[in-house]
Amino acid sequence: MQQAVMKAEKLAIMGQLAAQVMHEVKNPLTTVKGFLQLLKERQNYPNQQEYLDIMLEAIDHANNIIADFLHLARPGYSCRKRYAPEKLLSEVSMLMESEAALRNISIKTVIPENLPPVWIDPEQMKQVLVNIIKNSLEAMPEGGEVTIKTHCRARELFIAISDTGTGMDELVLENIFEPFFTTKTSGTGLGLFIAKQIVHNHKGDIMVESIPGKGTTITITLPLPQREEEHQNYTGIHPGTHPF
Ligand code: ADP
Ligand code: MG
Repeated sequence: MQQAVMKAEKLAIMGQLAAQVMHEVKNPLTTVKGFLQLLKERQNYPNQQEYLDIMLEAIDHANNIIADFLHLARPGYSCRKRYAPEKLLSEVSMLMESEAALRNISIKTVIPENLPPVWIDPEQMKQVLVNIIKNSLEAMPEGGEVTIKTHCRARELFIAISDTGTGMDELVLENIFEPFFTTKTSGTGLGLFIAKQIVHNHKGDIMVESIPGKGTTITITLPLPQREEEHQNYTGIHPGTHPF
C-alpha cells in the first residue's frame, strides 16, 4: 500500500516536471520563431548574423533541457554494486579532465588509502559528480582549481568537491536544488536537482557551502554498508524507472 502511494507520488512529480519541461522548451522555440519571422520579412537584415547566433543558442538551450529531462525519466533499473571510491573518482576525473584543461582548470583528488567500498549505481553516481564538477568548471571563467576530497566517518563516506569560483549569494543558495533554477543563459537548472534525487535515492545527503567571490564546496555523504551479509541479500537490481 505504502509503495503504491509512493509510486503515485513519483508519477505525479514526473508529470509536473514534464509540464515544466514543455514550458521551458517553449521559450527558446518562441525566440527562434520570432527571429525567423523577422528574417523572412526582410532579407539581408543588418543584424542577421547576430540573430542567427541567438537562434542557435536558443536551440542549444532547448536541446539541453530535453537531454537532461530524458536522463531523469530514463527507463531502466538502478543497478547497484560494491564499488571502490577510488575507482569512482578516477573515472569521473578522467571524464572531466579534457574540459577542465580547456578551461585552464586543474582537478585534484585527495583519497586516503583503504577506503571501504560503497554500495552504489556507479553510472548514476558518476552523473552526480559530473553535474557538480561541471558547475564548478562553469563557475571559474578565469580558470582555477577543483579539489575532490574523501574521508570516512561514522559509517559514512564523505565526498567534498570544492572550487575556487564565483561562489553564490544567499538567494542563489536557497534555490540551487529547485528544478529549472538557473543563473546561466543556456543552463537547464536540472543538474543539481537530478544529483539530489540520485543521492537521496542512495540514502545519502548533499550539502552546500559557498562564499561569494571565494568558491563553493558541495559535500555528498553516502552510507557505508553495515555488514558484509547485507550485500548478500541484494540482488543488485533495484526496480524503478527513474532516480527518484
Ligand atoms: P545549471 O548548471 O543548468 O544552471 P544546476 O542545477 O546545475 O543548473 O545549478 C543551478 C545553479 O546553481 C546554477 O545556475 C548556479 O547559479 C548555481 N551553482 C551551482 N553550482 C555552483 C558552483 N559550483 N559555483 C557557483 N554557482 C553554482
Ligand atoms: Mg549545472
